[in-house]
Amino acid sequence: MANTYTLPKLSYSYNALEPFLSEEQLKIHHTKHNQAYVDATNALLGKLDESRKTKTEIDMKSTLKSLSFNLSGNILHEKFWENIAPKGKTGKPSNALKKAIEKDFESIEQFKKEFSTAAKTTEGSGWAALAYCKKHDKLLIMQIEKHNVNIYPMFQLLLVLDVWEHAYYLDYKNDRAKYVDTFWDYSDWNAANKRFGGSEK
Ligand code: MN
Repeated sequence: MANTYTLPKLSYSYNALEPFLSEEQLKIHHTKHNQAYVDATNALLGKLDESRKTKTEIDMKSTLKSLSFNLSGNILHEKFWENIAPKGKTGKPSNALKKAIEKDFESIEQFKKEFSTAAKTTEGSGWAALAYCKKHDKLLIMQIEKHNVNIYPMFQLLLVLDVWEHAYYLDYKNDRAKYVDTFWDYSDWNAANKRFGGSEK
């Protein structure tokens, strides 16, 4: 049961997203920060496993709180790496996703504006995410704090943007707005299209 999670593989090299993200920035984000969530998740799963085997009581509340944070962090990073691509290799929204965005946000431009505002105004560390509710066939923006606060359960995450300082500080210092605006030149819709297609009724 333990050691289930592994560091997601990137489909591009560490310098492929320059100047959006420098090699140093992307490398430390992937190999240090993402790795830390993987390691913590596996350690917590191991702790739960061990307590079952040895019939030893653990602090369930703090263990599961920490698991929620670290596992969510790992899942979000895995999605994020797929949502960015080198310039010129980024896909566009599929016709189906474009139509859905126009239905729920009026236009792609309006959606980008709202998503950017959500990303720029996330309090502290967090994420902006385009999420899809299959039951009501509705797209919504999530403004996630940390990795796991303000989430709508069961919504499919189509497009996510990491706005933790660890994601951009080496390149942008405190200028989160510039990082968010630059993201759109490197956002790859291919994964979003696939996720949305897989959610269709
Ligand atoms: Mn991150």
